[in-house]
Amino acid sequence: MITRSEQRHAQQRALEYLDRAGVVMTAEEREQIEVSDFGLSKLEYFGVQTLTYFNTDRICAKQIVLFPNQICPEHWHPKVGTDPGKEEIMRVRWGLVYVYIPGADLEPAVRDRIPERKEHFTVGKGMLLRPGDQIILAPGTVHWFQAGPEGAVIDDYSTTSRDVLDEFTDPDIVRITKIVD
Ligand code: ZN
Repeated sequence: MITRSEQRHAQQRALEYLDRAGVVMTAEEREQIEVSDFGLSKLEYFGVQTLTYFNTDRICAKQIVLFPNQICPEHWHPKVGTDPGKEEIMRVRWGLVYVYIPGADLEPAVRDRIPERKEHFTVGKGMLLRPGDQIILAPGTVHWFQAGPEGAVIDDYSTTSRDVLDEFTDPDIVRITKIVD
């Protein structure tokens, strides 16, 4: 849950990052930044700011903004009917992003970067992505990611996105953010 003023503040802050990263947006898009706290009410720690350019029955493109050290919690994009699940390519445009996938346990240094709810992070094969680096996440791959100390702007390309169906390791997560006055 976030308040309307927290939402507005986060949208404004995300726009500053997008402008700094040289992202070109229409006036209408500038009003459409989605702020997600994953139901954990700790936006500074756990959250993402997203601008969706399009999401058709086949493809999707988004811009993701992360504030300094902000974490998108561990999740995967499940199979839906005949669709094997969202295939996602994250390409860093600005800042640093740590991405984790299955393959290793969390190293102590990684664990230290998670401010709380550490038990809900399990995959620890890490990669540090710099501007111009990208990672292709196959459907169903468990992943989580965190911005470096300056925050980050990510170009996110994928097959159809169905955020509400995403599955998370942390059972307390609610994908749709509740906004209160
Ligand atoms: Zn994802």
